[in-house]
Amino acid sequence: MMFKYLRERLAAARFYSLYLRSPSVIKKWQDASVRNVVRHAGRNVPMWRMILEERGLNIDSIQGVDDLRLLPIINKGSFMGKEYAFYTDNSRNLPTETHMTSGSTGRPFTFLPSDKMLFDKYYNNFGRFRFLTWKKRSLFSLPEIRSARIRVTPEIAESRLFIHVSEFLQDPNSTIAKINAFKPEVIESCPSVLIRLAQVALQDPSHAPRVPYAVTVGEMLARSARKLIENSLHCELYDRYGTEEFGTVGLECDQHNGYHIHPESVVVEVVNAAGKRVREGEEGRIVITSLLNYNMPFIRYDIGDCGTMTTERCACGLSTPRVWIVGRYAGLLHFNGRDFHRMEFETKLKRFGSSIIQYQVVKTGPRTLAVRIVPASGFDPSSMQRIEEEMRGVVGVGVEIQVEKVAHIAQMPSGKSQTIVDESVVT
Ligand SMILES: [Zn+2]
Repeated sequence: MMFKYLRERLAAARFYSLYLRSPSVIKKWQDASVRNVVRHAGRNVPMWRMILEERGLNIDSIQGVDDLRLLPIINKGSFMGKEYAFYTDNSRNLPTETHMTSGSTGRPFTFLPSDKMLFDKYYNNFGRFRFLTWKKRSLFSLPEIRSARIRVTPEIAESRLFIHVSEFLQDPNSTIAKINAFKPEVIESCPSVLIRLAQVALQDPSHAPRVPYAVTVGEMLARSARKLIENSLHCELYDRYGTEEFGTVGLECDQHNGYHIHPESVVVEVVNAAGKRVREGEEGRIVITSLLNYNMPFIRYDIGDCGTMTTERCACGLSTPRVWIVGRYAGLLHFNGRDFHRMEFETKLKRFGSSIIQYQVVKTGPRTLAVRIVPASGFDPSSMQRIEEEMRGVVGVGVEIQVEKVAHIAQMPSGKSQTIVDESVVT
């Protein structure tokens, strides 16, 4: 019993300290992990068996990170509309906790995270709070960190205060009171929410929450926004790069200059339109391989973000690569005297995941909201009515809602579509 406990602690310490090791130790670990995950996928996942066959490869063709270039780049479209069993592990009973993602592109599909993400209580904490271990906190204390989270997906734990985004937007002052009573060490949300919180806090600085750290995720964080949040909440802000499929991909160090990639979890590549890796510092599409997901392998997965990467050693001393994201979008819509966050619409629209290919929520006038949807084949016409009702549930009465079927949704230069657009603002 005792030995098992010690063995587990040792394995955890090794896993969680990989990012502190030398580039050669990290490379060795990543090569072995890539080899294992591809071998597993080729053996047990029909989709990957097919991909390897089509390319004339076998399960031993991929010996390490550099061989990944032999594999095609996949994206959400590779999974959408396919049988779940086609892209998941067929060799054993899988956990039943499937997740649904739409991301900011509005194209939902069902996926299964890694066992580490589902069952290891340190893993998700380490993704978000790794920086605290540089401030004399131990890895094993991270689940007890007091954190106030303003999100849409609850995290239930004694050490966590969860506030729904819509609750916050309706009454920011009572949220501030709750946060002050809870006395968190960290406040977590996306930048647009913390910007709003900072603005409200500035109106009454004596009641502004004093939180040592803020952790943001999910949107571009402008330098001015960082300053505003840090100054009004008296905190140091760590921005992280997270996705629903992979959890935290990277996190800032105390230099706050790019996200350090978490090398025990993922391999990140930046590629051009042809799928070839770009030169260091050049902009391209972010492609991620999970080293941990044996339930539903994500290998060379185009997440839909554009960015740049460097392997140059950081001033903080870490030698893990850093990425900068240049394209990711989000926002708020204002109706009836209050703001509604992108996530409030998204959580409702996710329910129509199997019948909508893509959607866009647009404020077209002071009191008009349009929901543009690209229907999937087999779209049930009665869904139009249900979508309208769901949207009514978010914005309330007094707003005219139009649900429109469209052939496609306009894309931005990065290739992404905005899910939330305010067309009522004339600029
Ligand atoms: Zn650094």
